[in-house]
Amino acid sequence: MSDSQLQAGTRKSELERNLAQINEAVAQAAKSAGRRSDDITVVAVTKTWPAADVRLLSDLGVTEFAENKAQELMAKQEVCADLALNWHFVGQLQRNKVKQVASVARCIESVDRPELVVALQERVQRDGLGPVTCLVQVSLDHDRVAGRAGVAADQAARLADQVAAADGLELGGVMGVAPRGGDARIAFETLKRVSEEISDQHRSATIISAGMSGDFVTAIKAGATHIRLGSALLGERVGFVR
Ligand SMILES: *Cc1c(COP(=O)(O)O)cnc(C)c1O
Repeated sequence: MSDSQLQAGTRKSELERNLAQINEAVAQAAKSAGRRSDDITVVAVTKTWPAADVRLLSDLGVTEFAENKAQELMAKQEVCADLALNWHFVGQLQRNKVKQVASVARCIESVDRPELVVALQERVQRDGLGPVTCLVQVSLDHDRVAGRAGVAADQAARLADQVAAADGLELGGVMGVAPRGGDARIAFETLKRVSEEISDQHRSATIISAGMSGDFVTAIKAGATHIRLGSALLGERVGFVR
């Protein structure tokens, strides 16, 4: 075997081990919450990691992948175009990146303002794209810290109505990030309440994307259907984190 084959083999075992540990933790958390682990989907957040890791994770059966930057999303999906993957977008989405992101992402988890709904709808129609699932990103911060994304919890239902009414967009549910240093349980319970408010009106909006590497067990106990895992799966990112 060549050095690079050996390296890929080592990396694959590492990812396989991480994935097994995550599946075990998910199963336990689901069980203690009286839920089925099948109802929880792991989304691999591959930001900062190479496309080679996407390929290895795909080999290991992972199908849901997320990026938070348009450029990185485009680059990785291009290299991995031969694989059957569902790409999610989880970063703050600027208007000038809507064209790129809508062309690739099956699920945009970070829909946080009415203008973005309008821009996405226009783009999907103009380019004849398939339906794009959208999640309303809800701010779970106590005071809305500058730079943290998400619509205020009391505005989320309105934004959800707009998504549901937009041709070419499908309202999938909600997404949230627990506040740094805050109480994740309280944050995820807020998200759950917002989700219920929205799904009362829109039956198909069942997704609750909550929980990252540090708090996914808490998120599962609070009803998360999707957990977004970066470092628990791929290792600590070097340098810039979010
Ligand atoms: C980076 C990121 C994640 C994954 O974070 P980890 O703590 O590494 O699991 C999840 N969600 C969003 C929105 C992110 O930007």
